[in-house]
Amino acid sequence: MNAPLPLDVAREHPNAVYERVAQASNEVAGQLAQRLTQQTQGEVLFSPADRGRYATDASIYQQMPVGVFVPRDADDVRVALDICRDLTVPIVPRGGGTSQCGQTVGAGLVIDHSKHMRRVLDVDVQGRTATVEPGLVLDHLNAQLKPHGLWYPVDVSTSAQATLGGMAGNNSCGSRSVAYGNMVHNVLGAQATAA
Ligand SMILES: Cc1cc2nc3c(=O)[nH]c(=O)nc-3n(C[C@H](O)[C@H](O)[C@H](O)COP(=O)(O)OP(=O)(O)OC[C@H]3O[C@@H](n4cnc5c(N)ncnc54)[C@H](O)[C@@H]3O)c2cc1C
Repeated sequence: MNAPLPLDVAREHPNAVYERVAQASNEVAGQLAQRLTQQTQGEVLFSPADRGRYATDASIYQQMPVGVFVPRDADDVRVALDICRDLTVPIVPRGGGTSQCGQTVGAGLVIDHSKHMRRVLDVDVQGRTATVEPGLVLDHLNAQLKPHGLWYPVDVSTSAQATLGGMAGNNSCGSRSVAYGNMVHNVLGAQATAA
């Protein structure tokens, strides 16, 4: 059985329905922006211009998000997810936005990890592993691995823009994946928070 509609809109005139849905959406967006501003250190971008910038990625699709959140750290992301869960707002995680099938556009809260969450946390040269934040761009990781004679072998064409988080989300592969595997073969683990 289908889930019931969140609002009882069945018997109203379409204009009245539109007004009511828009009002409810704006109210939720307002609460979302206010709570993100009060409870996190991240950037809260809800202007039409900001939402417009994030309404597209490398795909042909366009979809206006409710708003955009640029977290400073993992704690910010956890709090944002709690708020979205509470307000039943969908989330759209985003790295470089180079996906070609509309993965990073949607009518939810876009969470952009690429600005602040892009550190290499640890490189274990002996173990040939690195621990990174999800917004780190692949070329930047490889620049830090090069002095150790190492490189991350999932060589996507968009290595100058693609983030490790986005690569994991897409299970990315590269021209040498026949030899080295794709992301699923090269990620040992991830700290994740369920939405
Ligand atoms: C010209 C061109 C060439 C390309 N060549 C390749 C190629 O060789 N191989 C290949 O695999 N792909 C390729 N792609 C597609 C794309 O560039 C890659 O898949 C890239 O790895 C995506 O990285 P991104 O940071 O841009 O991810 P995004 O597009 O930002 O996100 C990708 C997915 O991951 C999710 N995501 C992002 N960050 C997080 C996070 N922190 N937590 C949870 N989920 C997250 C997003 O919601 C989305 O579903 C190409 C695209 C273009 C335009």
